[in-house]
Amino acid sequence: MNDCIFCKIIKGEIPCKKVYEDEDCLAFYDINPQAPIHIVVVSKKHLPSVLAFSEDDASHLGRIQLAIAKIARQLELTESGFRVINNCGRDAKQSVPHIHYHILAGRDMGEKIV
Ligand code: 5GP
Ligand code: ZN
Repeated sequence: MNDCIFCKIIKGEIPCKKVYEDEDCLAFYDINPQAPIHIVVVSKKHLPSVLAFSEDDASHLGRIQLAIAKIARQLELTESGFRVINNCGRDAKQSVPHIHYHILAGRDMGEKIV
């Protein structure tokens, strides 16, 4: 998508502080961090949200889950733990319509939402 900010980051048209990359996803530090460590793990496929997933995406999406675990190990978060969040749509305040997962870490996350 030409006007999608995350597609532009994936194409290298907008810089990012990269943490991890493989054939399925790119992970980088969030520009507006909500925790000492705040990473967004972005699919390399432009899917607007989880609602756009199809059966054909299952392997791709599964590998992104594996990438989240790799990133956690890479950043040595396995002992402390971390939170993974996806925002979908208006009420969840999704601001970038390109599927991504937030990894939040580096502090006590406070009360659980769920
Ligand atoms: P959402 O609100 O869609 O769940 O999350 C989008 C996230 O992308 C936000 O946390 C926002 O700070 C981050 N973000 C938006 N634009 C940029 C950018 O250009 N660079 C980086 N590194 N993060 C961005
Ligand atoms: Zn996109």
